[in-house]
Amino acid sequence: MFTVNAIAAPSATEPLVRTTIERRDLGPRDVLIEIRYAGICHSDIHTVRGDWGSVPYPLTVGHEIVGRITEVGADVTRHAVGDRAGVGCMVNSCRECENCRIGNEQYCLKGNTQTYAGVDRDGTVTQGGYSTHVVVDEDFVLRVPESIPYEAAAPMLCAGITTYSPLAHWNAGPGKKVAVVGLGGLGHMAVKIAAAMGAEVTVLSQTLGKKDDGLRFGAEHYYATKDPATFEALKNSFDLIINTVSAPIDMASYLGLLRLDGTLVSVGAPPEPLPVPVFALFGNRRSFAGSSIGSIAETQEMLDFCAERGIAPEVEVIGAEAVNDAYERVLASDVRYRFVIDIDTLR
Ligand SMILES: [Zn+2]
Ligand SMILES: [Zn+2]
Repeated sequence: MFTVNAIAAPSATEPLVRTTIERRDLGPRDVLIEIRYAGICHSDIHTVRGDWGSVPYPLTVGHEIVGRITEVGADVTRHAVGDRAGVGCMVNSCRECENCRIGNEQYCLKGNTQTYAGVDRDGTVTQGGYSTHVVVDEDFVLRVPESIPYEAAAPMLCAGITTYSPLAHWNAGPGKKVAVVGLGGLGHMAVKIAAAMGAEVTVLSQTLGKKDDGLRFGAEHYYATKDPATFEALKNSFDLIINTVSAPIDMASYLGLLRLDGTLVSVGAPPEPLPVPVFALFGNRRSFAGSSIGSIAETQEMLDFCAERGIAPEVEVIGAEAVNDAYERVLASDVRYRFVIDIDTLR
């Protein structure tokens, strides 16, 4: 084991503090990444505050990690010292179940190993990316193309793949009308990616406050969901709706926006169940679905797709000392569109 600088939550109710954590010695298939930037995802905040259940403290979160590989184990073949590398929401899986065998390890039937607050296959508790270094099995490490700015690459590892995967799965592309609900960290990436795929994109946001941004990101239309006329005007319109909002929505109203065989996919995670009126599904043979991050292969595909098309998240870079303030601003939706921690400030 070796000790590295980190930011950790001492408990569910205290601010995050600077500390040190242990990383495992490199195994034969491990790589050591010197972390340069770590994104702040809303899930980090839910997790440290215990909103999604009890977690082990002290806990270091962060699952949008980019840096440079500084050491590799003896049997590593996919990565080399000096490579730019990324790590997202998972760092391992069982590799044997039927989902793992077909390359859908994010849906591992034994549960994928989360990047933080998870229990790895060796029994240790995983610690996330708000730290100077991380040791990860090479199969769960992404190649980050040189053309993507370092700090902008970080949010792609969660926000990017979480929206890319359902857009790709449900065939967003030319001739398809896609709506994105919510223009936050996830939503702004969904708009950029769907537009780059060739779909006609509409943003559905509470107000028109971020309309200029939404159109700049590639949306053709922008509607306020506070205005009931929106749901009349857009009835039976969309092939695909990506819902990025973590609060309950009125399912009947949103399902009513889907045209024949349309699908509403939720990637936001409200803590309480959403009541689905079944009659709203009968009309137009509609579907309601969920989607969780993406596979490692698909995450690589997303990074390469974004690099080719020059797409990157909008980020606000902060120092380690500003993380607690950033959490409050995320909770107040006061970020355009993702905070990224400059890990050099932790060294
Ligand atoms: Zn996340
Ligand atoms: Zn598995």
